[in-house]
Amino acid sequence: MTNADRTYSFEFFPPKTDKGVDNLKATRAKLAKLKPEYFSCTFGAGGSTRDRTFETVVDIQEETSIDAAPHLSCIDSTRDNIAGMLQGYHDKGIQRLVALRGDIPSGTVVVGEFRYANELVSYIRETTGDHFHIEVAAYPEIHPQANSARDDLINFKRKIDAGANSAITQYFYNADAYFRFVDGCRDQGVDIPIIPGIMPITNYVQLARFSEMCGAEIPRWLRKRLADFGDDMDSLKAFGIDVVTEMCRQLLDGGAPGLHFYTLNQASASIKIWDNLSLSD
Ligand code: FAD
Repeated sequence: MTNADRTYSFEFFPPKTDKGVDNLKATRAKLAKLKPEYFSCTFGAGGSTRDRTFETVVDIQEETSIDAAPHLSCIDSTRDNIAGMLQGYHDKGIQRLVALRGDIPSGTVVVGEFRYANELVSYIRETTGDHFHIEVAAYPEIHPQANSARDDLINFKRKIDAGANSAITQYFYNADAYFRFVDGCRDQGVDIPIIPGIMPITNYVQLARFSEMCGAEIPRWLRKRLADFGDDMDSLKAFGIDVVTEMCRQLLDGGAPGLHFYTLNQASASIKIWDNLSLSD
């Protein structure tokens, strides 16, 4: 597979403040130079960022040369809410979505009409036909709430059977988990592109917290090495870029059909990894 056949993308979250908006504009301007396929923008639990996600996506779509893809989570939504958002995105020329179940903050009562992401994918297909390219989430290290690896794979396949076009994985630091997952999918007859989600390492405390929440494993050797850097952020970042570059190289050499970077609205680590991999050449 050549680089031209692969899909590269960058993920942002919707900023809350004017300063955050300016920062994201600067970040996306730097990343746009890499000519990714699209920029995606996350959707807060239970619709908490609904308007900000919409504004961020429309701004990207209208002000940059790169396509924008909103994340859309369904767990606390009604069919009417989702239909309204789909219509809004359709009217703004958006053609790609990342369709998710989402997580509900603990203690919140769920009132939604959708239980799982496969139901959202089915609904999008029923109501909008083939208009949207639909991405769904995949979990090489198993979704934390899954009963078993096997069930999780069957549940992943439901989303593809419902009409998803491609998938983006949760981040991981173990390329074998990705390759094994892709093999398992192929064995089940799932042949859509499964793009590895890449989380650059820039802050150990924050990464450890995220990983605890989403079930992504930081291997013991990596945790120990990262912990050793303490407050020496420059050395930690340099080491993190090295480790993540090497993993991306393994993934691409092994046939991964692209990379999706979780940028946390920062450009520099993703650009360094990109340059190390000579992806613009
Ligand atoms: P599902 O595919 O519905 O799976 C959730 C769990 O239910 C799994 O354990 C699965 O095995 C099980 N399951 C699925 N279908 C069935 C079924 N039919 N019957 C029984 N069990 C089933 N969260 C946000 O809030 N906003 C975002 O913007 C966001 N973006 C993300 C982007 C990516 C690329 C990824 C990987 C995750 C993202 N998340 C986001 C996190 C995601 O919402 C959570 O991981 C959530 O817990 C699961 O969402 P899902 O779409 O994978 O759910």
